[in-house]
Amino acid sequence: MTAQHLEPEALYVGQWVLVQKSRRVLHRTGQAAGPEHWHKDFPIAKGHRQSPVDIDTKAAAHDPALKPLTVSYEQVVSRRILNNGHSFNVEFDDSQDTAVLKGGPLADTYRLVQFHFHWGSCDGQGSEHTVDQEKYAAELHLVHWNTKYGDFGTAVKQPDGLAVLGVFLEVGDAKPGLQKVVDALCSIKTKGKSAAFTGFDPCGLLPGSLDYWTYPGSLTTPPLLECVTWIVLREPISLSSEQINTFRQLSFNKEGEAEEPMVDNWRPTQPLHCRQVRASFQ
Ligand SMILES: [Zn+2]
Repeated sequence: MTAQHLEPEALYVGQWVLVQKSRRVLHRTGQAAGPEHWHKDFPIAKGHRQSPVDIDTKAAAHDPALKPLTVSYEQVVSRRILNNGHSFNVEFDDSQDTAVLKGGPLADTYRLVQFHFHWGSCDGQGSEHTVDQEKYAAELHLVHWNTKYGDFGTAVKQPDGLAVLGVFLEVGDAKPGLQKVVDALCSIKTKGKSAAFTGFDPCGLLPGSLDYWTYPGSLTTPPLLECVTWIVLREPISLSSEQINTFRQLSFNKEGEAEEPMVDNWRPTQPLHCRQVRASFQ
């Protein structure tokens, strides 16, 4: 038997608590109600612009009109690292245009607010997007908001409000640019814990090539808003077994609650419906 109760749940996107909702929690397993239940509280879960999706590389047409991406992170100011009970966020000062994404499919300037990862319980799964149905071990999401909307909370209500840069991770050589993040995780093991996290350069998380696929989509966690221009890089980065195992030592639960390893925090792929995935490369 599985006892259920209702627990107030804050849903963090960026640095914002977007909704404060009751969430069904299965006592027996401690598992939160998974993606298959999200449509009950968030009907847009069954919308026609949901993410992630499978990227069918043969169907993704090269669009010669797509410009190269411009990633300008030189003046970036990192602030904090937070276990939000779904993943961990590295948060940035977004009060000025110090770290921005533009070009590519984007008509405007988008400011970096946070990044986080999704990962698996084993190396054969963990990414949200898939490439020809193949899953990667993890996926990095660098979240940016459109500065023409003034703040993140306003931007997420707009169809062109966010640009998320997605980077696949495969297990292999260690990623030196990731180690500072890995080393911080022991201080934010459980939900709600945070630590100062300054001087971090997210450029160390990017692959050599900025070739990308792009399509219109959504947040992949509630409230699942359809506000995201997705830009998913073709070239993965690698991380070591030791690095990804440190991710897996985080917990979904709060301190003092039953231990729930933070693994498999990815949403399965959603129908593409009438959308097209475009490629920046031949
Ligand atoms: Zn994400």
